[in-house]
Amino acid sequence: MTTTLDQISPIGYQGDDPTVAALRDSIYGPYLATHRKARELIMRLGDVPPDHLTYAMEAGIAPDLLRAVLGEIGLPAHEITADIHLRGAFGDWAAVAAPHLLTVWTGHFDLAIGAILTHGTGAPYQQNCLTELDTGAAVGVLALTELGGTNGADQQMEARWDPDADGFWLSNPTIGSVKGPPNIADPTVPKIVVFSARLIFEGRDEGVFLFLSRLRTLDEGLADGVEVGEMSSKLGAAMDHAWARADRLFVPRAGFLGGQWATITDDGAEFRCDEPDIRQRCHRSISPLIGGRLDLSTANISAARAGVAGLINYSKQRPHGHSDVLQRDLVTSAAHVYAGSVLGRMIRDLSVDPAQQARLPLWMTVVKPVLTTIAEKALRTCSARAGAQGQLRCNYYPDWIAGARGSKTAEGDTQVLEKAAGRTHHALSTLKLPGAPTVSSWWLDMIITREHTLALDLYIASGIEHSGSYDEEYEPKGTALGIDSTRADLARTTGVRLVVTAALIAGDQATDPAAATIARACAAVVALTYLDRHSGWYNAHSQQSPDLAEEIHDELRRNRVIIVANQTVLAAAFDIPELSGAPMFAPDYLQAWSHLAEWGEHTFTAQ
Ligand SMILES: Cc1cc2nc3c(=O)[nH]c(=O)nc-3n(C[C@H](O)[C@H](O)[C@H](O)COP(=O)(O)OP(=O)(O)OC[C@H]3O[C@@H](n4cnc5c(N)ncnc54)[C@H](O)[C@@H]3O)c2cc1C
Repeated sequence: MTTTLDQISPIGYQGDDPTVAALRDSIYGPYLATHRKARELIMRLGDVPPDHLTYAMEAGIAPDLLRAVLGEIGLPAHEITADIHLRGAFGDWAAVAAPHLLTVWTGHFDLAIGAILTHGTGAPYQQNCLTELDTGAAVGVLALTELGGTNGADQQMEARWDPDADGFWLSNPTIGSVKGPPNIADPTVPKIVVFSARLIFEGRDEGVFLFLSRLRTLDEGLADGVEVGEMSSKLGAAMDHAWARADRLFVPRAGFLGGQWATITDDGAEFRCDEPDIRQRCHRSISPLIGGRLDLSTANISAARAGVAGLINYSKQRPHGHSDVLQRDLVTSAAHVYAGSVLGRMIRDLSVDPAQQARLPLWMTVVKPVLTTIAEKALRTCSARAGAQGQLRCNYYPDWIAGARGSKTAEGDTQVLEKAAGRTHHALSTLKLPGAPTVSSWWLDMIITREHTLALDLYIASGIEHSGSYDEEYEPKGTALGIDSTRADLARTTGVRLVVTAALIAGDQATDPAAATIARACAAVVALTYLDRHSGWYNAHSQQSPDLAEEIHDELRRNRVIIVANQTVLAAAFDIPELSGAPMFAPDYLQAWSHLAEWGEHTFTAQ
């Protein structure tokens, strides 16, 4: 039996419409059941945005939610960390329906536990830390960023090896080396912290490694040799941000997270490391960030799916919801969020492929910026198009926006990642999704042309024949101010190519013809929006005639119209449930307000 459109609801659709099912398949793959289970358990936490708590009280919600969700799941946190799809499903739904939980999610699972799993040796000290992290008895945190800047391999915090003490003394010799802003300020919450610091061995600088510290325990409070101070609050996404200044904070030998690749001999006299390049030691140490970047990407795109679905649901009930000016913004957001969701799912699949492991860091330098940027932009747009309702916390948008804003900075700032990606110039065009569409389209070809042109420009500037400091010698073109701008432009172009390609692949693979049409329309809207916004570049490079510019607009309009007609189906495919206390997600938002206001059956009968 075929479903008619009016039987499909944008929120909480339970039916078996084949188009909805096919689109869901492209977003969730074979893990829809895992996502449904995660959704159910996360919803059970009841984490509605609160109106009357102080910032510190709000920041204090996350540790309780962490313990509660681990209890509900019934698995130790390290097993969840190791299961990339399970971890992703819970992170994604935390972003949607428990935004407070998301603030500690990646720090706990990907970074702290991830560091122990990746670089641990199984030592009892590490296992004891894991046991506490497994239940959420202690919250895991990575303290990487320093006040002097992200610093990468130039970090300044020091960890001096002391053979007599059989451990390390951590200290911050300068203001710039002080750690900030990990979430460690709350004096009541036990924290297990992985510090990044330079290993100083017999006076030699051996590069940056990770050191596992029981920073704060219930019994003993803050560890000796470290001072922690509260940093300022943010507007939303409340976290107990702090600076940490160590002055001989002791970490035992077993707290050194160098796995088998970086070790200190039993007699404490020699340091051995498989990695000869000191700067590479830092990159290898901080590899757990890759999982965090993946989880932040898909989590924020999930919140954006909710944001789009909420606006589709709400605008249908509003007198001017069908206005084309509102609809243009809405379907442009919907297209980006759908295509970004497909890309996120594909990258998660790809991240469990052993053949892709070496390339994952490069993938994530492109994917995290593009997905978190799409998410934040879509959420801001949908919030704005929902007027006042979109600004009320009960409808979640302010919390989602704050989460996306933070995620664009945390675990690799957007522009820093884009610059790093752009440094590899031609390597970016080798980032290809499995099952790339066999039939290309002219708008995708135009994006690829820009990608190749920018990569070639950077390649020539940094070519193998070239010696000396090419960054300074580089002569920028277009809107670039210097070589980093071009690198970022290239990374963004690659990101858009991947988003568009992902939706095209979804169109190819869809079992339902209507779903294929919608997926391709989303790909087209993303691509053509990009071409429209960069028409100056295409003009300057003689890549666009007035006729082509007109065709871009015509095609963009034609594909937007397809999404306008199918927006309910698309929202239903996002699988967003009614959110507690959020009128925009109710089938009748006026009734939802009536319910919240506790108006009775006869309240309005007198008039
Ligand atoms: C919500 C949130 C949670 C966080 N949690 C933690 C945590 O738990 N632990 C932790 O250690 N840190 C944490 N951080 C800090 C975060 O990792 C850093 O803020 C981030 O790495 C950026 O560093 P920065 O703030 O020093 O910005 P900067 O490094 O100053 O970057 C600002 C801008 O400077 C430019 N820039 C910087 N570096 C370069 C470069 N190399 N090349 C070109 N341009 C550059 C870019 O334009 C960039 O956007 C968190 C941050 C946020 C927002």
